[in-house]
Amino acid sequence: MTKDDQGALSLFVGIARPPERSKRCDLYRKVLAAVIVHEATHLAGGSEAAAREAELQFFGALVAKGLVSREDGLRYLDLLRQRPRQNDD
Ligand SMILES: [Zn+2]
Repeated sequence: MTKDDQGALSLFVGIARPPERSKRCDLYRKVLAAVIVHEATHLAGGSEAAAREAELQFFGALVAKGLVSREDGLRYLDLLRQRPRQNDD
C-alpha cells in the first residue's frame, strides 16, 4: 500500500506465479489475493460494503482477463455476491 502526495492510498496486490502449479492451488492464491484487497480496503478506512465491492472488482478483473477459469471465477463471484449483508452495508 502506498500513499501519494495528497495522502490518497493506493494498493497493488501482485500474484507471483510458482514454477509448478496446480489449477486448484492457483485459484486459491487468487482468492487469497482478493481477500487481501478486501482487508486492505478496511485498513484504508473503507466500510464493509466498500471492501466487498473492491474484492468483487478485483476478482472480476481476474476473470475478465482470463487469469481464472470462467467456471471457477463465476462460481466464486456468485459466492461473494450471496454473502449476508453486514450492519454497516
Ligand atoms: Zn470486511
